[in-house]
Amino acid sequence: MSDSNRNSKKHIKLYIPGPTEVRPEILDAQTEWMVGHRMPECVDLIGRIQPKLQKVFFTNRRVLISASSGTGFWEGAVRNCADQKVLNCVNGAFSDRWREVTEANGKDNEVLEVAWGQPILPEMVAERLANGGFNAVTVVHNETSAGVENPIKEIAQVIRNAPGGDDIIIMVDTVSGLSGAPLDFDGWDLDIALTSSQKAFALPAGLAFCAVSERAMEKAKTVKNRGYYFDFITLDKYMAKNQTPATPAVSLLFALDRQLDDMMAEGMEARFARHMAMRDMTIKWATNHGFELLAPEGYRSPTVTCVSNNLGIDVPALNKFLRERGMILSNGYGSRLKNVTFRIAHMGDMVPADMEELFSNVDDFLAQ
Ligand SMILES: *Cc1c(COP(=O)(O)O)cnc(C)c1O
Repeated sequence: MSDSNRNSKKHIKLYIPGPTEVRPEILDAQTEWMVGHRMPECVDLIGRIQPKLQKVFFTNRRVLISASSGTGFWEGAVRNCADQKVLNCVNGAFSDRWREVTEANGKDNEVLEVAWGQPILPEMVAERLANGGFNAVTVVHNETSAGVENPIKEIAQVIRNAPGGDDIIIMVDTVSGLSGAPLDFDGWDLDIALTSSQKAFALPAGLAFCAVSERAMEKAKTVKNRGYYFDFITLDKYMAKNQTPATPAVSLLFALDRQLDDMMAEGMEARFARHMAMRDMTIKWATNHGFELLAPEGYRSPTVTCVSNNLGIDVPALNKFLRERGMILSNGYGSRLKNVTFRIAHMGDMVPADMEELFSNVDDFLAQ
């Protein structure tokens, strides 16, 4: 399928942190003939996908696949594995929403909140866990609203060293991190890592993936009312046979299989390096113009940069200008960060030349 007959609409290149730009080859991979999910064709497809997904998560554990967005696994994580108090670490809009999901499921919680834009530091987590009583911690790897990467490896270490730490379920949202920013599920001793297809994976929206440790799976067996659609025990039982309990998003799985092949061909280390290079370009571009960055040095996200609008530019006008040139970036997230920040995603399959293209167009707007 050529891009001209894809549809009559104008292509707007997405420099927003999700959904991200999807390459035509990946879009086309979705047009394979439909297969039934109990047919060998689909079992083989999931069988090809699974070992590649494990490489992206750096795990030997089975990775669960769901026909949902990542939010589903937020709910799944707390429903399956939280039965005492949960510590919700909050440093932006997404981590705050996971707190909301925890409470909406009736789980007892405490909140560790820092100013949006600041990182969650290991010592803060250690202090909160010092008196015991916690059964799970939720933390976002890459806070998309603020462009902050939290130090997950170090946070996981202090959790394990806390009272009762060997039994605490470490739940990590890596929706806008995984495959763009390093995350070593087994090496860092994490229990749950969840992500979505439409961020750094650069796939269409509609799939979510979740690695679950043996510790978390054993915990789930003891938890009542795990719910139905995101019951880890059932999902894992089916995944052991390369199946899902309910009908999967078959067309998206074809696209995933193709995208994972391309990720393997690039190599994860090269993929991380490409993201870091684009991040550094973006920071340099922003600071050269006199913009400040919301996140402090050392915690700036490899996949999305949140620029403080200290120069007071008209962000909606900028986006209107860019839209006419066939591209778009992202305003700040939510009432707290809109217009006072804007965000540039350098995520998925973008390359440095794409970033140059965006910057030269923003420069044209600023020069007006
Ligand atoms: C986008 C995003 C989510 C929400 O994911 P959905 O796939 O839209 O459900 C959650 N967490 C983070 C960090 C995100 O960037």
